[in-house]
Amino acid sequence: MLAALRRIVKKVSHAECLDEALQLILNFVQETLKVDACSVYLAEQEGEQPRWVLRAAEGFNCQAVGEACLAWDQGLVGLVAERAEPVNLQHAAEHPRYCYLPDLGEEPFEAFLAVPIIHRRKVLGVLVVQQRENRSFGEDTVAFLLTLAAQLATHILQAIVGDEVAPTGDKKKLTSVIHGLSGASGVAIGEAVVLYSPAALERVPDREVVDIESEITRFRAACEAVQAEIGVLAGLMKDKLPAKELALFDAYKMMLKSEDTWQPVIEGIRKGNWAPGALRDAIEEYSRIFAEIEDPYLRERASDVRDLGKRVLMQLQDKKQQPTVFPAKTIIVGDEISATQLAEVPHECLKGMVSRSGSGSSHVAILARALGIPTVMGATEMPSSRLEGHSLVIDGYRGHVFIDPSAAVRNQFSKLAKEERELSHDLEGLMALPTVTPDGVSLSLFANTGLQAEINPQLLQVADGIGLYRTEVPFQVRSRFPSEAEQREIYRAPLEAFAPRPVVLRTLDIGADKQLPYFPIEAENPALGWRGIRVTLDHPEIFLTQIRAMLKASEGLDNLSILLPMISRVEEVMDSVALIWQAHQELLDEGVEAVYPRIGVMVEVPSAIYQIAAIAKRVDFISVGTNDLTQYLMAVDRNNARVAELYDSLHPAVLNALMHLKTDLTPYNKPLGICGEIAGDPLGALLFLGMGVDSLSVSGSSLLRVKWVIRSFTVEKAQQILAQALVLESSTEVRLLLERELEQAGLGGLIRAGKH
Ligand code: PEP
Ligand code: MG
Repeated sequence: MLAALRRIVKKVSHAECLDEALQLILNFVQETLKVDACSVYLAEQEGEQPRWVLRAAEGFNCQAVGEACLAWDQGLVGLVAERAEPVNLQHAAEHPRYCYLPDLGEEPFEAFLAVPIIHRRKVLGVLVVQQRENRSFGEDTVAFLLTLAAQLATHILQAIVGDEVAPTGDKKKLTSVIHGLSGASGVAIGEAVVLYSPAALERVPDREVVDIESEITRFRAACEAVQAEIGVLAGLMKDKLPAKELALFDAYKMMLKSEDTWQPVIEGIRKGNWAPGALRDAIEEYSRIFAEIEDPYLRERASDVRDLGKRVLMQLQDKKQQPTVFPAKTIIVGDEISATQLAEVPHECLKGMVSRSGSGSSHVAILARALGIPTVMGATEMPSSRLEGHSLVIDGYRGHVFIDPSAAVRNQFSKLAKEERELSHDLEGLMALPTVTPDGVSLSLFANTGLQAEINPQLLQVADGIGLYRTEVPFQVRSRFPSEAEQREIYRAPLEAFAPRPVVLRTLDIGADKQLPYFPIEAENPALGWRGIRVTLDHPEIFLTQIRAMLKASEGLDNLSILLPMISRVEEVMDSVALIWQAHQELLDEGVEAVYPRIGVMVEVPSAIYQIAAIAKRVDFISVGTNDLTQYLMAVDRNNARVAELYDSLHPAVLNALMHLKTDLTPYNKPLGICGEIAGDPLGALLFLGMGVDSLSVSGSSLLRVKWVIRSFTVEKAQQILAQALVLESSTEVRLLLERELEQAGLGGLIRAGKH
């Protein structure tokens, strides 16, 4: 049963459209449960009124599909949705909520079982099975349908949204809206460019092809190249494999050579899709056919077909075929966009980003914020592969994506985008002014960085220094560890650009969602595993090389601070300091005149808060990484879109933990800064002003916004607001309080799209 369930989920996930997805589900249910009829009702909006519409049916009058409907609170279907639980009846007609639909022809059915289809607490629809005779459906059947509905909910939602997306160029379709999570604020209007990993066949998007004949030629050439590749492989294996296994290579070559095999691809190209898209469809179809074969040996051949498909795709994806020209207003879209993919798009074309996975605290979102790119994360229902070339509008404040927006939506957002530009322009007036409150308290305002491109003239003019340089970024864009000399050059740039202002270089912080392609770290529970300082202390050769490079880079400048990530115990501080001291001594012996750096610890693991006295004694400053601290305090994975709504650095628990830290740190007189993303959020900045922290380190695009907040509130007022926030019980209440205060102070433009 489990295998059958997996197969149906996979099939539904690859369905071309909603009708196909629902039909697959109904066929499977009818075959497995041997019921007389089954149907799916989906929620639809009719003007202001939501209702339940029959979207697929087996065993009924098919004419009723798309026509028969029930009011929101009507019938047994309404009851299932209202209760969000199954309803199982032996004599349905006797139930007071039974509602007879004349078009459906359901008179003969007695037994009724229905389960809700729920995605993120919202009932999308109801799956119903019915039986002529009065049969009582057993617990097993209920459990089976519940499992099926729960597994399929996301795919059904994707198919619903996918259905709303018309082929490119069809202007008649209505706008569809996807609700994701805010990744980076701002609004963007542009054209979707779908990014996908090389050889991820299932993620290849559709793309229109103009020159059909040359696309067919390109495809045939790719098949020939794979044939040659297989020939070479067979040659290499000749002496190593038995003849029976070697015959497989011949079979592959025959498949590749056969016109019949590739006919569906050629047909797909002739219909106007590019070769990778047509190949994806053909391979999916073959896999579907193979997967249905009962014989396990033959069924396994599906993986051979997929393998061949991937090989052909790799040939088609020869670097030259990757899009090198991006539309002037590109919005990148993908299931899982990596930091390197983001970095590859020319900055002047990149207007926005939408990712199906991840959340606002994923690293790719942090990079997007640093670059000032409006971003929506966790858009789980987005049909990525269908969006190539579609027009999109992004509201990065609320996490909304509008596909094929109507003229009215476009106009509304163009107006908001214009106001945003005006607001940014107005904020530029703050560039030369000091970061000081109206009652004369000044705060250091540092920048978070990691991409070379981020150090621009505006950053140099506004930031008091760099409060967090994420050194993993230059490590991520290489294919091996950078050498000491390469690293020296990388670090010299920010140190020199900002001298004599301080530059805080953080030691390599890899693990969890920050992976190096050449040093993958896999773990069942990566956020609690080998991360940050734990990795570099286990590899002193990597740590020492990095420290030496940092010290050499600071020669003659004297503005280097080194920051240690993921510290969870005092021994890690002691070991790190010992290695920094060793590297410094080595360099002095070698005649390098590097000044001993200031050393700081990141507080991002709760245990560090409770050991702050022991830590503070050993270092020069403390910097709070609220991104990780929130994840560990609230037990919410910062990258998991499913729980992203539970992740909030403004939760009273986080705020009270920070107050505890501040109080315990006070006797040690060591500067306290905040470098997590919430420091760059105007709401967070207001609270930290009240807390009396010494510095905030924020992404380049937030510097002026935060400066505006600091210049608008006295410390006394900020302290009053903080005192109110600390006794609230939920982050929603904290946010409402802070938003109200910002609105009242005339800073509403900082928290929503537009200026007014
Ligand atoms: C943090 O955790 O808050 C932080 C600044 O580090 P990163 O986001 O790079 O993990
Ligand atoms: Mg961190």
